[in-house]
Amino acid sequence: MRGTKAAGVKILGKERDNMAARVDEDKCTGCGSCVEVCPVEAITVEEVATINADECLECGACVDECPNEAISLD
Ligand code: SF4
Ligand code: SF4
Repeated sequence: MRGTKAAGVKILGKERDNMAARVDEDKCTGCGSCVEVCPVEAITVEEVATINADECLECGACVDECPNEAISLD
């Protein structure tokens, strides 16, 4: 796995140990567009989007959909 320690990204309160789409909370406006395109319902939105790394397939649909380029895949 690459980037595990260096990234230090927390998703759902735990340290991520697998690759998944990642939300930049400074860019996310909580618009919800990404939720609608995720084929596995891995995204939830409250104030900002959160991606469940255990469910994410890394398909990239949310990355393309986000109007603010707030989601990236490693
Ligand atoms: S990369 Fe695909 S599976 Fe992962 S959160 Fe985005 S839309 Fe869902
Ligand atoms: S589409 Fe982008 S800005 Fe909208 S909720 Fe998803 S990550 Fe946030």
